[in-house]
Amino acid sequence: MAIETFTSTVLSKKNLTEDTILLSLDAPDTFTFNAGQFVTFTIVKDGESKSRAYSILNSPVQKNKLEFVIKLIDGGFASETFRTTKEKDTFELKGPFGHLLLDESSSNHWLIGCGCGIAPLHSIVVTHLSQYPNSQFTLIISVKTQKDLLLHDLFLKIEQDNPHFTYIPTLTREEWTGKTGRVQTHLPDDVKNKTFYICGLNSLVEDVKELLLQKGVDQKNIKFERYN
Ligand SMILES: Cc1cc2nc3c(=O)[nH]c(=O)nc-3n(C[C@H](O)[C@H](O)[C@H](O)COP(=O)(O)OP(=O)(O)OC[C@H]3O[C@@H](n4cnc5c(N)ncnc54)[C@H](O)[C@@H]3O)c2cc1C
Repeated sequence: MAIETFTSTVLSKKNLTEDTILLSLDAPDTFTFNAGQFVTFTIVKDGESKSRAYSILNSPVQKNKLEFVIKLIDGGFASETFRTTKEKDTFELKGPFGHLLLDESSSNHWLIGCGCGIAPLHSIVVTHLSQYPNSQFTLIISVKTQKDLLLHDLFLKIEQDNPHFTYIPTLTREEWTGKTGRVQTHLPDDVKNKTFYICGLNSLVEDVKELLLQKGVDQKNIKFERYN
């Protein structure tokens, strides 16, 4: 897929949680990507310019639109810009990049992430679920507390409508009626004929990868994207 650089305008910005926003921008007709990929934003502030990567949340089926879930980190160069970003602001974007793509030869996909790592996994689910009705998709996502859950109602609805999709949200710092503990706790015992996709902070990616290898998963069946 050709890498493009283009100017993109903010269409909307919405607060998803206390520290996470959903940012929608437009995209030119020429821009195409695969579910699971990311773009870089050029952030210009105080005469300084830095590049930051963000995974695309929506499906490539949706044309001329790019959505992102972005965690606002106190004092972060890009985060502080996004905190004040408003409709009609523009950014220079470049992409698509990344190899966290669906393995179309597999029929059992385990998507594992933390926090904003949900973005590319969401894109993969909403893009491929209807395309592969005979494949099983399982999403395990960890956040600290219930109020940190991202797109929770949406995933519950997708699960209700699609018997071949299982949604496993797990909380690491709060008890609730659902699952608790790290994502590792909820990995399958039988890892045969499954493909794993891991996305989020480096420590999570490394820990899950390590555990999957110990369980006997072949390296080629583990795909990942590190956020730091
Ligand atoms: C391929 C890829 C895809 C990514 N996709 C997303 C995405 O979809 N959504 C998203 O929110 N981020 C995503 N990131 C992370 C993003 O690129 C930035 O690193 C992040 O937004 C912080 O940038 P900043 O300029 O605000 O902070 P910086 O100024 O770079 O850092 C400020 C401080 O925050 C710390 N820090 C950096 N990242 C985190 C973090 N995640 N949690 C806690 N502390 C942190 C740094 O170590 C530093 O101390 C992705 C990264 C990669 C490599």
